[in-house]
This record gives sequence, structure tokens and C-alpha cells, in this order.
Amino acid sequence: MRALLSSLIAVFALLSVNAHGGPVPVYAIKADDFGRGSPDAWDHFLRLTAQYNVPVYVGVVLDDIQQNSDAFAGMLAHIQRHPKYRLFYHGHTHNCGTDESGRKFGEFIAPLSAQEMLLDQGKAWLAAHGETQYVFNAPCGASDKRTALALANTGYHAWFYPKKDRDGLFEGCKIRYTAKVENPTFNPNFKTFGQQFKYLQSRGGEHLLQVHPGAWGGAKFAEFERILKSMTHHSASFNWVCKGA
Ligand SMILES: [Zn+2]
Repeated sequence: MRALLSSLIAVFALLSVNAHGGPVPVYAIKADDFGRGSPDAWDHFLRLTAQYNVPVYVGVVLDDIQQNSDAFAGMLAHIQRHPKYRLFYHGHTHNCGTDESGRKFGEFIAPLSAQEMLLDQGKAWLAAHGETQYVFNAPCGASDKRTALALANTGYHAWFYPKKDRDGLFEGCKIRYTAKVENPTFNPNFKTFGQQFKYLQSRGGEHLLQVHPGAWGGAKFAEFERILKSMTHHSASFNWVCKGA
């Protein structure tokens, strides 16, 4: 009986549609660069997202969190206790960008063995902080064609990535961060997000809202809260975007 009920529920979940008849879109937040930026801003962000009950993937920059461990210790403990937060590995140094010749550089544009070594260390840190599902996003989105294999070899479950894994070597959950909250980067923008949100609501799918709250002050938080309020008002569905991760 219970099996029948749960399969019925699963069928209804699959059949749930949005106002336009498409599948219901799901949103989660991807908050980058935890361990750097203003600890007060991070604290504000964590309190605000808890209030709205939004699931948040928190991207840890390992060297920074280790260097600023005193300022972030309380928040880290809060994240570990709270079911709406998950930590993911966001590199060691965050030394990344584009050089003068227009080429991207970063820790994950590197030989396979070097990438695997970093990913192993990231995984060990996540495990030591209570995570059992390992999620990765390269700083600046700077990865190369070896990254998919490195992730597969080191047992990661999910990858938030900017470009397609063309070779299909990584079989875990792959999510592109499609919903731009900050426009330009570091600046929440209610107006431009609203236009995208309208489109995404009609389109369905899983969406990550990428933010960098460590760089925000009062006005930026107000703009971000306008976005959360509007999403809540339009009955946006918040949930983890990868099964089990
Ligand atoms: Zn970052």
C-alpha cells in the first residue's frame, strides 16, 4: 500500500506543471567565495536566506577559510547544523581570470594529476565538515577538458560548471548556473533578474542563482531581498537542484 502511494505521489510530482503547462522550475542559490570578503556580510546573508528557507550551496575557498577560520568558525558551525545549507569545494587559492592574450587561467586548467590532488584535498575537507555528497565548482568557472575526468576519478557527485562537458566523462549531476542574480557581478539586480525569472518560470528545469554575498553591503542586500520576496510571491519552487546533492 505504501509502495503504491509513493508511486502515485511520484507520478503526480512528475505531472506537476507550471502556469504555462510546462514542468515546474526549481531554484537553489549558489553562494561563492565563503571564507573571503566581509564576515559580517556573510553572516547577514546566512540569516536572510534562512528566513526565506532557500537551499544554499556554499562554495568554500579552502585557503581563505583556513586563514580566516576564527571569523568564520561560528558561521561554519551554523551551516553544518542547518539542513538548508551544503558546502561545496570552490578551489584552494581562487587565483583565476583571463590573461592579456584572452586565455583563461586557474587551478583547474592544469595537468590531470594536479587537478586530482586538489579535488582530493577538497573532498577530504568537505568530509571533515560533515558532507557526504561532494560538489565542485571551479573558481571563475575556469576548468579544462581534463576536469571532467579528474572529477570522475576522485568520486565527486555534482559539478556546477559554465561550459559543457563535451566528452561526457563526468556522470554525476551537472548544472549550469543559468539564473543571473548579480548583473554586473557582485551587484544584485532586481530588474534584470525579473526578466530572466519570467522566462525561466515558463521554461522549467533546475536553476542555480549565483551570488557573492561577501562583497555586499546594505543596498545590495535590499536588492537581493526584493528578488527573494518576488520569487516567493510568485510561488517559486526552491529545492536542491541535484538528486542527493
Ligand atoms: Zn568564486
